[in-house]
Amino acid sequence: MNGSHNNQFAGIAAGIAATTGEPFEVTRAQSIGGGCINEALRLEGNGQSYFVKLNRADRLAMFEAEAAGLETIVDAGALRAPRPIALGVAGHQSWLALEYIEFGRASAITSDHLGEQLAALHRVSAEAFGWQRDNTIGATEQVNTWTVDWLEFLREHRLGFQLRLAGERGAPPALLERGRRLLECLPAFFAGHQPAPSLLHGDLWGGNWAPDTSGAPVVFDPAVYYGDREADLAMTELFGGFNDRFYHSYRLAWPWDSGYATRKVLYNLYHILNHYNLFGGGYANQARDMIEQLLAAA
Ligand code: ADP
Repeated sequence: MNGSHNNQFAGIAAGIAATTGEPFEVTRAQSIGGGCINEALRLEGNGQSYFVKLNRADRLAMFEAEAAGLETIVDAGALRAPRPIALGVAGHQSWLALEYIEFGRASAITSDHLGEQLAALHRVSAEAFGWQRDNTIGATEQVNTWTVDWLEFLREHRLGFQLRLAGERGAPPALLERGRRLLECLPAFFAGHQPAPSLLHGDLWGGNWAPDTSGAPVVFDPAVYYGDREADLAMTELFGGFNDRFYHSYRLAWPWDSGYATRKVLYNLYHILNHYNLFGGGYANQARDMIEQLLAAA
C-alpha cells in the first residue's frame, strides 16, 4: 500500500483513537490477505499496532458479536486471545480492530498449555446454556437463547436450526427426515453424561489457534457460547491441528465422560451441516453418513 493510506484509513484510525483516548495516525498499513470471511489489515502508527478486520457495512453486528466473544475469553483469564480495541463503520465497510499479536513457533510445551488452558476456560460456567447474544458460526447465524436444558438447546438451536437451513437450501428430503429422526433420539447419547454449561470457544478448528512469539497458545475467531465442553473437544478432532500432548494435558486437567466417542459425532454434525449450508457439495453425504452412524448407535 502507498502514501494514500493516511486518507484511506482515517475513519478507522479516528475510531480507534476515540475509543483508546490515544492519538493514532496510520503511518504503515499492510494487507494480511484474509481469513475465511473477512479482509484483514495491520495498521501501525504512534507506536501502536492493530489487526483490523473489514467487511461489508451491514456486517457490523457480526463484528460486535466477535468483539464481545473475544472480550469474554480475555476476561476469563484462562487462555490468550486478542483483546478487542474498537469497531465501527467507515464509508461502505464495517471494521473491527484487535490487539495485534505476533505469532511465532510452538515450543515443546505449547500444546500442553493449550490443553490445560482450554480445560480452565471450560471451568468457567453459567446458569444456563447459551449466551448474552446471538453470533455467527462461519457466516451463518448462531442462536444462543439462554436454555436450562442442554438437550433442548442442542435440538432447537444447534442441530434443528441447521437442519431447517438445510431444508431451505434444498437438501435431499431423506437427509432431512433422518436428521429429524435423530433429534428425537438425543437422550440416548447422554446416559452417564450431564454436561454443565462451559464457556466454549465454539469454532475451535486447527486454523483458529496459533502460538505467539513466546510459544504461548492464542485462540482467535471464536463463536462463543456456554455449552457442553465436549463440543469444543469434538471440533478439535474434526479437521486436525491438535496433537496427542494437547489431549493428554486436557484429560489430566479434566477427564471426559464415557460415551464421548459417539457424542463427538453428534457435535461435529452441527459443523458439517453448517458447511453444507455454506458450501453445499459433498457435505450432504458426510452429514448423511454421520446421521446414519448416530442412528445405528442410538
Ligand atoms: P476470519 O474471521 O476472516 O476467518 P481470522 O480471525 O481467522 O479471520 O484471522 C485470519 C488470520 O489472521 C488468522 O489465521 C491469523 O493468522 C491472523 N490473525 C488473527 N487475529 C490476529 C491478531 N489479533 N493479530 C495478528 N494476526 C491475527
